[in-house]
Amino acid sequence: MTQTIAHNKPLTALDVCDRCGAQAYVRVLLLDSNDRPGELKFCGHHGRLHARALAKVAIDIQDESPQRAAATALVAAIAGSGPVLPEPQDKGRGPKRGWFS
Ligand SMILES: [Zn+2]
Repeated sequence: MTQTIAHNKPLTALDVCDRCGAQAYVRVLLLDSNDRPGELKFCGHHGRLHARALAKVAIDIQDESPQRAAATALVAAIAGSGPVLPEPQDKGRGPKRGWFS
């Protein structure tokens, strides 16, 4: 029997960390010793905590953590391809007035 891995299926609030039960933001796709696919899900904390070890064995890692999204947006903004950040506006208060004018 062939099992299909849902590639890049968005993680939802129903996906929870296999380590602590918090909402999962990282999905790790793995193959077992018989080359059967499986997946582990982690919250942002445990995803980062085990990232180095998981990178050695994973066939794919889907990271939707808010920290990663923020970092990606920041890099895109710096590169000029992301959303344009608003320029600070000078909200001058007009000509200064003296006490008796
Ligand atoms: Zn966790």
